[in-house]
Amino acid sequence: MKSKFNPVGNAKASNTEDLVRRSLAAVWHPCTQMKHHEAFPLIAITHGKGPWLFDEHGVALLDCISSWWTNLFGHSNPRINLAIGQQLQKIEHVMLAGFTHPPVVELSEKLSALTQGNLGHAFYASDGASAVEIALKMSHHYWQLSGQHEKKKFVCLQNGYHGETLGALAVTDVAIFRQAYGALLQDVFMVKSPDARNSQNGENPEDLAHRAAQDLENLLEREHNNIAALIVEPLVQCAGQMAMHSPEYLRLARRLCDRYQIHLIADEIAVGCGRTGHFFACQHAGIWPDFLTLSKGITGGYLPLSLSLTTDKIFQAFYSNEFAQGFLHSHSYTGNPLACAAALASLEIFEGEKVLEKNIERAADLSNAFAWTKSDSRIEHSRQTGMILAFDIKKEFLKNPSEFPRALFKSGIEENILIRPIGSTVYVMPPYILHSQETMDMGSSIQKALNKAIASL
Ligand SMILES: *Cc1c(COP(=O)(O)O)cnc(C)c1O
Repeated sequence: MKSKFNPVGNAKASNTEDLVRRSLAAVWHPCTQMKHHEAFPLIAITHGKGPWLFDEHGVALLDCISSWWTNLFGHSNPRINLAIGQQLQKIEHVMLAGFTHPPVVELSEKLSALTQGNLGHAFYASDGASAVEIALKMSHHYWQLSGQHEKKKFVCLQNGYHGETLGALAVTDVAIFRQAYGALLQDVFMVKSPDARNSQNGENPEDLAHRAAQDLENLLEREHNNIAALIVEPLVQCAGQMAMHSPEYLRLARRLCDRYQIHLIADEIAVGCGRTGHFFACQHAGIWPDFLTLSKGITGGYLPLSLSLTTDKIFQAFYSNEFAQGFLHSHSYTGNPLACAAALASLEIFEGEKVLEKNIERAADLSNAFAWTKSDSRIEHSRQTGMILAFDIKKEFLKNPSEFPRALFKSGIEENILIRPIGSTVYVMPPYILHSQETMDMGSSIQKALNKAIASL
């Protein structure tokens, strides 16, 4: 492996340089101020293998964030490649209204079984945000069908994130994503986040969960007749700087939702698929929501697929002779067979390779690799939930805080690692395939990159 990643190429005009130029002209990149790329390199990837991404010169980057939290079993995974190839020989796509096919049936049955039948009905879409829209719409529609027309508002958590389409953005509390679109967003109720970093006077995470749940209770007591659902990201508010909370909050929220007849939507798009230790994060609390959304890792990070699981009770409310009483929502690629085949292959890997058991050791490796963060005086709130590890850089050590994320991204690239800090929070969310030594190396590379980035500000 060559040691230096040089994304804009060197003296010789490379294919990379050409590709980057054409990309900046023709591709509008996501979540990006395009002008920043005048000074900041765009990285052209030609291939990937396992946790590594490569450029045309064979220079490698360790994908410490699973390509935006999607990749679970490495790039170019032989089993998933094979499953997609085999499905491709049968059928690439067929509409799911009026038709069905083996991969979507098997996947839905497997997911139902993983919830012990509690969430036995799967409705599909392609991106995470669409699965959130589906859960919100189903909840809203359910209350209409039940004659409770006033129950139409949603409750969300401060610092939460549920995607960027208008419905999902309305229940999202990340200012930078909302700023320009406030006028387009429906009104919602927002309650305290149980973020364990907000502890006061020696509160432990459970105390904090109780304090946040009290805020929720106060709202529900007053407004429950107007509320359809509460939406939460169980255990980790990932886009909200990897804010972690106690499973106690989920137990309390479940209880309050039951008491006040409000649906609980668990958005497990980032935290599902084994990320927190159990397959579903809700299992840490021993509860089931009324809706559970999945995407990102469900196909092993291969293809766009999302879904909202729900209960028989919700399903039955829509079951009628009336067409208009059905859930009349669709996306063209709903339940795409190739994506479902990739998801089935991923679930087979979970079973066949005892992934959840092995992730206990991998999570311990992660903890060892970042033990240095606990004694580094520049760092606070070093925290971990399963295969997510995060820590914050104290404000006084960031001379130019708004430049920090890009500075660390850049120094990371120089150390052959891909990380994307969120504000002053540094995190890793690696695929479930790293060996102990690779994990240790990741920890020390990030330490080096951090020293460089802080010095450069
Ligand atoms: C990423 C994410 C979404 C949105 O998924 P997209 O596929 O990007 O639309 C929704 N909720 C959570 C918790 C997420 O992390």
